[in-house]
Amino acid sequence: MRPFRYTRAEDVTGAVALLAEAPNGAFLGGGTNLVDLMKLEVATPDLLVDVRRLTSDQVEELPDGGIRIGAATPNSELAAHPLVRSRYPVLSQALLSGASGQLRNLATAGGNLLQRTRCVYFQDVTTPCNKREPGTGCSAIGGYNRELAILGTSPECIATHPSDFAVALVALDAVVHTQGPEGGRRIPMTELHRLPGDEPHRDTVLAHGELITAIEVPPLAFATRSRYRKVRDRAAYAFALVSVAAAVDVVDGVVRDVRIALGGVAHKPWRAGRAEELLRGGPAREDRFRAAAEAELADAQPLPGNAFKVPLARNTLTRTLLDLVDGSG
Ligand SMILES: Cc1cc2nc3c(=O)[nH]c(=O)nc-3n(C[C@H](O)[C@H](O)[C@H](O)COP(=O)(O)OP(=O)(O)OC[C@H]3O[C@@H](n4cnc5c(N)ncnc54)[C@H](O)[C@@H]3O)c2cc1C
Ligand code: SF4
Repeated sequence: MRPFRYTRAEDVTGAVALLAEAPNGAFLGGGTNLVDLMKLEVATPDLLVDVRRLTSDQVEELPDGGIRIGAATPNSELAAHPLVRSRYPVLSQALLSGASGQLRNLATAGGNLLQRTRCVYFQDVTTPCNKREPGTGCSAIGGYNRELAILGTSPECIATHPSDFAVALVALDAVVHTQGPEGGRRIPMTELHRLPGDEPHRDTVLAHGELITAIEVPPLAFATRSRYRKVRDRAAYAFALVSVAAAVDVVDGVVRDVRIALGGVAHKPWRAGRAEELLRGGPAREDRFRAAAEAELADAQPLPGNAFKVPLARNTLTRTLLDLVDGSG
């Protein structure tokens, strides 16, 4: 690990100012991803600004029935919070499906959204990787790519975004609040993460030194019966091969409204807008669910190593919707 300075700021403005003057500095949340990457010399910040005590670490109820999650809220407290469990079970299930109890105690809501890809080449500084070192090439495209993306890929990068929490937030139309050198802004979760295009080193639309301060989840009455289903190689301590976050509102056998996002399939949490559109107003039946899943995956461009993800995503989405309408969700 390379030498670096560690500091704390008095407040959010101070933290943002510190990073504005440190082009190679980084914010430190729980450190459960960043410190690992520093040990591997994948990340080499010269300054760490600890932000755990700067923003709220609480979940608050909003007047409209939504919730506001402070960026410093530990993943474990967030998953266990009564408002989250009762109004947005999909969020709680997504958080509990990730990492381990100890890691979730340390990991923060803000840091979770900005964790980096688990592509094995990204984590190995001896191999070419456009995300880690722009212009060097992508080792995964002709190499090991079993866990990598099938949707929205580019010839430069086929990495997947690893956060389960982010997938659930995308399905719920959450909004991220930030404070940066140019002031504050609100970014819809659907727009926070990027597709790789020809700039795969940029995971998100955030500027350098832009701090996530909070996440707001709007009210959604039918999210009380939402669900997160994650398919992975082991039952614990494994990232998603494919995951589905979904909530469905069915009245008299008809889908009145629906929210779906997929994880493990793209460089960003994938909002399944095409499937949602096909489902709204139609019968809540298995053949319709399967047709919607097929439509969502129609543009998939898998490689031989990850082609299994196309039927896996189709079946996982269909099964999750069936569980929700059967009442077992
Ligand atoms: C063994 C293991 C298994 C795991 N399994 C899963 C899993 O299955 N699913 C899953 O989703 N996750 C999993 N994780 C990842 C874990 O959830 C993340 O490491 C954690 O959520 C990151 O949060 P943190 O606060 O520790 O972030 P840090 O490591 O502190 O930071 C991560 C990034 O966010 C930036 N950052 C931190 N806070 C802010 C902020 N407020 N504003 C702007 N930038 C900020 C940092 O600069 C850094 O770039 C696993 C991790 C490990 C080690
Ligand atoms: S898929 Fe992306 S992260 Fe993985 S080696 Fe290729 S460029 Fe790097």
